[in-house]
Amino acid sequence: MTSISGNFFRPGTATSQPATLERDGTGEGRYTVTTEAGDIFNGLQIARTSERLPGVVRAISFTDANVFHTRDDDAVDALLGGSGGFSGWLLRTESSLVKSGIIAVLTVLLIIGVFRYGTPALAYVGAHLTPLNVMTAMDAGVLATLERATMQPTKLDEETQARLTARFDELVQDSGFDAVPLRLHFRDGGRIGANAIALPGGSIVMTDQLVARSKHDGELAGVLAHEIAHVEKRHSLQQIYRLAGVWFMLGVIGGDAGQIVESLAGTAVAFSTLSYARGFETEADMRSAELMVAANADPLAFIDLIDRVTKHSEGTGLGSLVRSHPGRVERRAAVCAHLKTLIEDYDCERGDVSDDLSGLPGLHSVRPAA
Ligand SMILES: [Zn+2]
Repeated sequence: MTSISGNFFRPGTATSQPATLERDGTGEGRYTVTTEAGDIFNGLQIARTSERLPGVVRAISFTDANVFHTRDDDAVDALLGGSGGFSGWLLRTESSLVKSGIIAVLTVLLIIGVFRYGTPALAYVGAHLTPLNVMTAMDAGVLATLERATMQPTKLDEETQARLTARFDELVQDSGFDAVPLRLHFRDGGRIGANAIALPGGSIVMTDQLVARSKHDGELAGVLAHEIAHVEKRHSLQQIYRLAGVWFMLGVIGGDAGQIVESLAGTAVAFSTLSYARGFETEADMRSAELMVAANADPLAFIDLIDRVTKHSEGTGLGSLVRSHPGRVERRAAVCAHLKTLIEDYDCERGDVSDDLSGLPGLHSVRPAA
């Protein structure tokens, strides 16, 4: 029987007690926590387990508001039956007959789901079924159109580009996400001003104007982490499918890439103005905070940058960054609450989790070259 060592937090108490967590005998999906002092909590049910992140404490929240923290990721994954959750279980299922049966049932459930829950559910599934080569073609089409319409080559100096790219690569590596190759592009945003855009195929565009508005690289890294999350969770595609509808989506998934680029090119600028659904923004914020914690950097800094850009928008207000984002206070509070589930006693007022910002070259001097 696997037993995990960690710390146990009772609801309403600030201090934790050393404890162990294991399956209990009272039924499927029930767990027991035994504290060092000998107190036993039986029949606990897991409400949520935080994602596995290098160097970050894993938080297991129970339905009765008790929380268990541990650094033993392997033991957590072993106890919960693998980190892949349902899909991991599906992959491990041996019988192909059982597997195809399950897939058939899932397909029926999907169809019912579409009628019941409408386009968002379908857009979600469609976004995850869209082939990589189609997404890559979309990126090329959208980038070309944006370049014709408003964007110019970057005026950032090479050193700044290299420094931010290194930061970006580090975040990508920490994310463990490799289903779509992520690339950072620098452009003078022109009309779209200070902005960052995440395209479906993994192209992330950051404008010189955004770099100019930043006070330090940590702010930009947080925005990059936020955009990485948009790609990782396929938000752009879901948004396009939600707006353009089912038939368009089926055409993209089943059709040929050339045609799609053509049909998308005309609407590329409209695409760049798309504002994400609020839920997507929240999801990207939470993921950004996780990635920034993993990189040992300030997970809240990006909110200040976005707020600065939103308040004194010099562009036309186009673009994913400045539109429909939640307000600063609300956003900070939500990210802060999430951070408290990741790190014991996280102090949002104190801000950063490390002093790495002071060691960054070019702090407060990130400006486009003349
Ligand atoms: Zn966003």
